[in-house]
Amino acid sequence: LGSSLRGSLEKLRGQSRLSEEDVEEIVKEIQRALIQADVDISLVQELSDDIKARALEEEPPAGTTARDHILRIVYEELVELVGDSTEIPLEPQTIVLAGLQGSGKTTTAAKMAWWFSKKGLRPAVIQTDTFRPGAYDQAKQMTERAEVDFYGDPDEDDPVEIAREGLERTQDADVRIVDTSGRSGLNEELVDELEEIEAEVDPDHNLLVLDAAIGQGAKDQAKAFGDAVGIDGVAITKLDGTAKGGGALAAVDQTNSTIAFLGTGEEVQDIERFEPSGFISRLLGMGDLKQLTERVERAMEETGAEDDDWDPEDLMDGEFTLHDMRKQMNAMNKMGPLDQVMDMIPGLGGGLMDQLPDDAMDVTQDRMRNFEVVMDAMTEDELRNPRSVGKSQVERIARGSGQGEETVRELLEQHKMMARMLKQFQGMGDGDMQRMMKQ
Ligand code: GDP
Ligand code: MG
Repeated sequence: LGSSLRGSLEKLRGQSRLSEEDVEEIVKEIQRALIQADVDISLVQELSDDIKARALEEEPPAGTTARDHILRIVYEELVELVGDSTEIPLEPQTIVLAGLQGSGKTTTAAKMAWWFSKKGLRPAVIQTDTFRPGAYDQAKQMTERAEVDFYGDPDEDDPVEIAREGLERTQDADVRIVDTSGRSGLNEELVDELEEIEAEVDPDHNLLVLDAAIGQGAKDQAKAFGDAVGIDGVAITKLDGTAKGGGALAAVDQTNSTIAFLGTGEEVQDIERFEPSGFISRLLGMGDLKQLTERVERAMEETGAEDDDWDPEDLMDGEFTLHDMRKQMNAMNKMGPLDQVMDMIPGLGGGLMDQLPDDAMDVTQDRMRNFEVVMDAMTEDELRNPRSVGKSQVERIARGSGQGEETVRELLEQHKMMARMLKQFQGMGDGDMQRMMKQ
């Protein structure tokens, strides 16, 4: 997509109005990208109609160009298409994972448990798959790697009995994740089994786990699972492969649910919360991320948020202060997962990412909010010179912000890590920087 959509948009430069042909051309580029990403044809058609209608009917706000106008509409409609992120309250709950065999349930169960444990909760995985040979061992090993509680019983062949016993044995856990068996296709045996487990467990949420490569079959599959147990959310796995996961949108639409998590690898840490702008960038290809986020940033400015512009060139000179870090984190939150933003940058990605602790990339809203409260309790001098903040200052800031000293220290650590990343930016040649800016 990248170049052709950009080309169509370029042509609008300097224009203040959109013609029907302009809109047609842009919509066609977007359609091509979405269909290639497996998005259901009827969803693509709906989106196209909405974009066309809005682009031609709505007056561009004063001072905006035709290009800004269409970009904003495209972005808003894409956000509408992919939907919000499923709300995952950080509180005790029970979640059942359902899906076909090989979709990634067991892996996702361990990953989610890992994710909850990083959020300070105590999770447990209950493995009820008695159908697939080796399911018990696989779940046991993965939960060991995630360092979370596990219950399963390789000698019991009734999944409902395992679920019952599992709930009893994991009373100490806050979040119980019940992994279920799959089949190669959705058959009556699987539906019965799921319904019985659902009745026994009485979960707060049922998540449907879908392989990113799922194509046009997603709708029927989602309907069948939805009819059997009701689906509150979707997890899309294997997004580290070539598939973009667009097929899953039909499942979301069908079940009237939202996307909760994305799986991006085989390790327990390879999980991300779904986030619309990052997912849209994936769907369209990275090329237009910058234009789209510029659009969003401007939209944010209009709604009162300020000072969020992320300009890589700003990073190149001067001291990196906590003010800068706040801007970066805000901007990156909007662009999508930080590790993917980093992946876009030539010469970064892989190597550097491996040197950083996992939570270096955790710029989630929750964490940001805590950090902002901490920053509000710091003096201007401390914000400009975070490295000078000593033990007694940490104590004072913690008291002043009502956050633990732990959070204050985390913020300072995060600053150090980001400063280190910037050193690497600065180590890159000008050519690399130019190329990155153009992406
Ligand atoms: P289940 O049958 O639904 O429980 O699926 P599994 O969790 O056993 O996963 C099936 C296969 O897909 C395993 O080989 C996993 O390692 C792999 N897998 C699961 N999630 C991901 C992912 O996000 N990325 C990649 N690359 N592989 C995954
Ligand atoms: Mg499994």
